[in-house]
Amino acid sequence: MGSLIRSIRAYTIEISLLLALLASLGFFGYLGYGLIQPSPDTIIFSGEEALGYVKTQLEFGPRVTGSEAHKQMGDWAIRELSERGWEVFIQPFEPLETVDARNILAVNGSGPAVIIAAHYDSRMFADADPNPDNWTQPVPGANDGASGVAVLMELARSLDVAASGKTICLVLFDAEDNGRIPGWDWILGSRFFVSRLSALPKCSEPEFAVVVDMIGDADQQVYREGNSTPFLVDAIWTTAAELGYGEWIVDAPRHSMLDDHTPFLEAGIPAVDMIDFDYPFWHTVDDTLDKVSAESLARIGRTLEVWLERGAPYSRTN
Ligand SMILES: [Zn+2]
Repeated sequence: MGSLIRSIRAYTIEISLLLALLASLGFFGYLGYGLIQPSPDTIIFSGEEALGYVKTQLEFGPRVTGSEAHKQMGDWAIRELSERGWEVFIQPFEPLETVDARNILAVNGSGPAVIIAAHYDSRMFADADPNPDNWTQPVPGANDGASGVAVLMELARSLDVAASGKTICLVLFDAEDNGRIPGWDWILGSRFFVSRLSALPKCSEPEFAVVVDMIGDADQQVYREGNSTPFLVDAIWTTAAELGYGEWIVDAPRHSMLDDHTPFLEAGIPAVDMIDFDYPFWHTVDDTLDKVSAESLARIGRTLEVWLERGAPYSRTN
């Protein structure tokens, strides 16, 4: 068997020389094209960054539609999204004759369009406050408004859009939260948005919409929302459970909401509302930064990030 071993050794040396020659000719650059995956995205959704986005929004003051603080906060979001490389579109509308409002759309990537949305206005009156003296005060909106926007802003930073294989349409809806106030209604921005879908660049035929609203409560309990499309809820809640978040993103039904997902559902577009409606400070002057936690924001953000980067899979069984 000695001669065979010698010949294998000789063969090995010849192969080595051949490989060295090919390497020197740049052959591995070509070979690597098919074998080496694109460098994986290493940016992970950060709850601390998201909490910083909540704080920044609160520093503008209450973001009541039509107010100067609201306009400035919207301008900040437009700048921030543009600087992160997203293509930003403004959709102006007039919820009341005397009030200017605008939805903000940020687009990135290619492939089927999907919508991830949150409202960026805060309620005009804290009329659920236990103290009637506060009923004419505006809501600070740390959780009801700022938390959802913060998740979108941090996704704009951390999401590997290319990995998703989707056109990601991040939408900040205006004029969601003034229902039951004379002259106003709920969800005016999302209603306008869906009524003009066909005119929206790149996002006119969304595969689905996911709305995040009031998801930053430090005492987080995000149940399955009763009007949401079940097969999408299954997919997102399963991802949350895989990440170990089942205690906070709970696979059980609870509330049924009218929210920014409603116009999508009415238009026949699958939609989900991720919302934690067990929030004692809802529409009170105590909806403040200290009620929101980085961990809660991270659970929602990470779940969406991981699900989207897998290509947002679901099985359309129901
Ligand atoms: Zn509200």
